[in-house]
Amino acid sequence: MLSVNQVSMHFGGLVALDGVNMTVKDGEIRGLIGPNGSGKTTLINVITGFYAPTKGTVEMDGQVISGKTPNAVAKAGLCRTFQNINLFSEMSALENVVTASCTHQTVNLGSAIFQTKALKVQEKECYDKARELLEFVGLAGKENIKATNLPYGQQRLLEIARALATEPKLLLLDEPVAGMNEQESDEAAQLVHKLRESGKTILLIEHHMKFVMSLCDNLTVLNYGKVIAEGTPSEIQSNEDVISIYLGK
Ligand code: ADP
Repeated sequence: MLSVNQVSMHFGGLVALDGVNMTVKDGEIRGLIGPNGSGKTTLINVITGFYAPTKGTVEMDGQVISGKTPNAVAKAGLCRTFQNINLFSEMSALENVVTASCTHQTVNLGSAIFQTKALKVQEKECYDKARELLEFVGLAGKENIKATNLPYGQQRLLEIARALATEPKLLLLDEPVAGMNEQESDEAAQLVHKLRESGKTILLIEHHMKFVMSLCDNLTVLNYGKVIAEGTPSEIQSNEDVISIYLGK
């Protein structure tokens, strides 16, 4: 589904990514890990259209998406959550999801102007879908609570519900459990399990090793802008290069 081909990214003289190759297959959960400064954020920014790579391409379903705007990349079916909370804080949980699902749906201009029955049906569908998504992520009963008044862990789940409302082909989760306590990260892990069962394709960037190792099918490890290892969690955990960068040997 996603293919990163020989991607390099230079910032002046600094080489943040150096010939990176990575694929994410349909239905796969791919983890992207590496120490601080290894290039993870830069790679995500290239994949999601925030940076155009210095060299190389990113393809989604065979179409080149690198160099396109973040909006065009989102339209191609890639939706991301952010490390920092990115919600409409004064809106309710339900409204936050509805805005994402309604903007995603094409609203028929004629029905929008004349407030026809079709628009009312469409609006009801958005609300129904938003309620279903809140239930799916574990936020049933929280529909009317303002986003800002939800505990931190639930705000992160709400972000995932918003991302799902756009019906992405590929969901990119950027440090979904950062700042969560143990119980919250267990709930987030259960949600990722559910997403996997529903057949979603996910690219997961995360520092929490237990979380990554228990959820991912395959991992790509970056160090100094290069891929130094790729494989299943057990292969990665026994890879000497990976052990040495994490344990500093
Ligand atoms: P990670 O997300 O793995 O911590 P980053 O992608 O943030 O790594 O950073 C990779 C390297 O690129 C680092 O050396 C960082 O200082 C550098 N870098 C990242 N963004 C920029 C930028 N906008 N301008 C200059 N250097 C940058």
